[in-house]
Amino acid sequence: MSRLSESAGFLRRRTRTPAILTLDEPPGPVTIDGGTLLVRGWAVHRASRDPGEVQVVIDGERFSARRTVRPDVAQHLELDPALAVGFTAAIDRRRLAHRGHVRVEATFERAASLKTPDINFEHLAGDPVPVEEVGTCPVCGDAERQIEGSSDGLRMARCATCAVVYTVDRPTPGFLAARYSAAYFADEYLPALEAEADAMATHWSMLLDLLEPHRGAASRLFEIGTGAGRFLRAARQRGWDGRGVDINAAAVEYGRREYELDLVAAPADTEINPTAGYDAVVSEMSLEHLPDPHAVVARAAAALRPGGVLMIFTVCADGDSFTSLGMASPLVGPAEHLFLFSQSSLERLVTDAGLEPLLFWTDEAGDSIGVLARHP
Ligand SMILES: [Zn+2]
Repeated sequence: MSRLSESAGFLRRRTRTPAILTLDEPPGPVTIDGGTLLVRGWAVHRASRDPGEVQVVIDGERFSARRTVRPDVAQHLELDPALAVGFTAAIDRRRLAHRGHVRVEATFERAASLKTPDINFEHLAGDPVPVEEVGTCPVCGDAERQIEGSSDGLRMARCATCAVVYTVDRPTPGFLAARYSAAYFADEYLPALEAEADAMATHWSMLLDLLEPHRGAASRLFEIGTGAGRFLRAARQRGWDGRGVDINAAAVEYGRREYELDLVAAPADTEINPTAGYDAVVSEMSLEHLPDPHAVVARAAAALRPGGVLMIFTVCADGDSFTSLGMASPLVGPAEHLFLFSQSSLERLVTDAGLEPLLFWTDEAGDSIGVLARHP
């Protein structure tokens, strides 16, 4: 029998019982849903149509609950619907310890307050992600922004000036570095790459076609965020002398072993040699992962020879996916995709670095965007 039915029977049998306060049915009165701890329940007081306040108390800290209507409760109890008051509280789990106790207190007018027993909760989704709030747009520096929503408890906002969508509650550098682990490479990255192998080969061939007119005699290319190194392998098959960097040591090891590529495991913005004089620097589906795209693009620009080109291909906030689905878009994962770029934000990045944009293009749905920019 459900908690609601039991309570209804109890209250009907003992009609002199003036009040009841309960959480919704076990086992789910307290759940962790993504980044939020949800507490739901209802209260009835026959002597008062208005509980003064419902509060959720978690380890001594008080949170106000939002009031809701509960026609289901009123119907079960055969009550005037105005007497059945629902409540729901959604608490950001970053404010909570990993384990704790929660109870609900309701204060009724002209009557004693009621309390539920303490209930243990435990974060089912793992420890909260440690975050640092990003105060201004990392691309253009403007503070004005519109919050788009949150995913996994992490907010994203669109910059009012350059229109990039960026993670506001950014996981700390230590968390981000740990995320790109050997397990991530083996269990997430590599299977996704294998599943799209043919499409990626076609895509890389198109990117290499765009680079071809800018190739110098030495054909020197550097890739930021190589992953397994397959783009560099494709570039080598067309005669490029490629090098690259990736933060994931397991990915770098794989590329060295499988394809004998010249790769370095390091954060991208520290490894581009500014005196290298490359013909081309490429960031293919990596810039959205990097915390400081401004610094990366500036270093990439400095590493080009005059006439050399920077090519960026990345995720876009202005295509079908984000436009129609918003924060429910599969492009959104604010702990990994720290940015969903706009054309104006990419233009800002390359021009700030002293480059001349030659070409912008998108995929068919507009969910990915490219820029090719030339060192003058
Ligand atoms: Zn901006």
